[in-house]
Amino acid sequence: MFTDFVSMLFPEYCLMCSGPLERGEESICIHCKYNLPVTNYHLTNSTEVLHKFWGKVPIRYAWAYLKFTKQGDVQKVLHRLKYNGHQQIGITLGNWYGYELKSAALHEEFDLILPVPLHPNKLKKRGYNQSDTFAKGLSDSMILPWYQNILQKGTFNETQTNKRRLERWQNVKDVYYVKDVDAIANKRILLVDDVVTTGSTLEACAQTLLDAGCKEVSIAAIATA
Ligand SMILES: [Zn+2]
Repeated sequence: MFTDFVSMLFPEYCLMCSGPLERGEESICIHCKYNLPVTNYHLTNSTEVLHKFWGKVPIRYAWAYLKFTKQGDVQKVLHRLKYNGHQQIGITLGNWYGYELKSAALHEEFDLILPVPLHPNKLKKRGYNQSDTFAKGLSDSMILPWYQNILQKGTFNETQTNKRRLERWQNVKDVYYVKDVDAIANKRILLVDDVVTTGSTLEACAQTLLDAGCKEVSIAAIATA
């Protein structure tokens, strides 16, 4: 009764179609859920995302849950996740995608999930990392651990021990580093981000993780351009 009363006063709307959400629906209504432009790359063995990393860094699997569409629904939703504070949408999409991956027994391919980190200054300003929300959702439905602080982003001064790596990544302004090397030793990592475009951020993160001694890196993004 009380929940109904509250939702009457504060109706929640689908972040895609703006229609009212029914009880039990979160962020996206059932209709929009079934019309999501899913790639199914994890089922078709498509190398469209993987191709971005060929000849750059060895990646085991590379997937994106959704494909950008002309109508721009996916962009709209991702913009709301990134800039309008709608963290639940990242968790919900992670939950749904994690369920898909688990149904294909692909959760067995990973030991842990790591989100692409934000620079601490950006994190402070935004209040949350949009990739964390996707990692959390995936973690819940795949029953795999995810860690917020193992992979970090810093500046040159903070990571002087990584000078050699910095020279290698001269084209990447931001430097990534692993805070807890023991935690990733010989582990199969699923690295997650909101959008994969050129892949340069994911490439830098994957190389950092491999240099730090993990076994292998796979990639899952919410969407691909
Ligand atoms: Zn909808």
